[in-house]
Amino acid sequence: MSHSADLLVIDRLSAVYNHAIAALHDVSLVVRRGEVRAILGANGAGKTTTLKAVSNLLTADRGQITQGTITFDGLDVAKTKPSDLVRAGLVPVLEGRHVFKSLTVEENLVAGGIGRGSSRREIASDLERVFTLFPSLTRKRRIMAGLASGGEQQMVAVGRALMGRPRLLVLDEPSMGLAPIVVQSIFDTLRKLNREEGLTILLAEQNAAVALRYASSATVLENGTSVLQGTAEELRTRADVREFYLGSTVARGQVGAVANPSDAGAVIAAE
Ligand code: ATP
Repeated sequence: MSHSADLLVIDRLSAVYNHAIAALHDVSLVVRRGEVRAILGANGAGKTTTLKAVSNLLTADRGQITQGTITFDGLDVAKTKPSDLVRAGLVPVLEGRHVFKSLTVEENLVAGGIGRGSSRREIASDLERVFTLFPSLTRKRRIMAGLASGGEQQMVAVGRALMGRPRLLVLDEPSMGLAPIVVQSIFDTLRKLNREEGLTILLAEQNAAVALRYASSATVLENGTSVLQGTAEELRTRADVREFYLGSTVARGQVGAVANPSDAGAVIAAE
């Protein structure tokens, strides 16, 4: 295990699908231990591709890294099997809240512990912890996950990842398709885990307003390239003055810098 303050380092990453379709170009970002970092961007900006690359799951989609490196706590991600990344503490929750629909809520959670190689005792205590974090799952623990609501399924997906005892939780669009009150509840739980247990989180979100409320820093992707980086506070302030984005061009690569000001306006307007 490395002792660097940087838990995840993405350095000049480029990726393609089917050997042809360029999805990412020269993306760099760092996730520091203990922070919540958001990746923002519109549809097709490259958020999911970045998170799949981070979890070494791109090849399953016929995707491939063509340039750059990803390092998780000293491990070369591209050379580490996804299951070994989970054991090392990098646990993804992919887009679309994948749950095993015909297994019960509890069985889904247990699967997360088994995936990590947890002992029975660890699984039992981790289960109770997840039910404490997501009390609404307690009542549903014996029902099939496919019958739970969308919000509950998202909680199951996050809970299953927590059963893997992550050090870096990677979340793709946790708010997608959920009512605002459910989104708030899930993000409140993530904030609690971050603040009270120091869990580091990397999440992709189209919902910039929610993400910037909970994240400590963010990177904005546009057409597979990072066009804006900064602390969430800096970006929130910019969001408050979005006329600035729409009407101004500033140097690329800094806070407030955009390749195309109207694109950044679209991102901020996604609030
Ligand atoms: P969304 O919010 O819609 O998921 P995103 O920001 O996550 O968008 P990606 O899904 O990473 O964006 O897509 C980046 C680019 O790669 C897009 O041009 C997309 O069409 C393309 N792409 C994504 N997945 C595949 C795939 N399996 N095969 C081919 N091209 C893909």
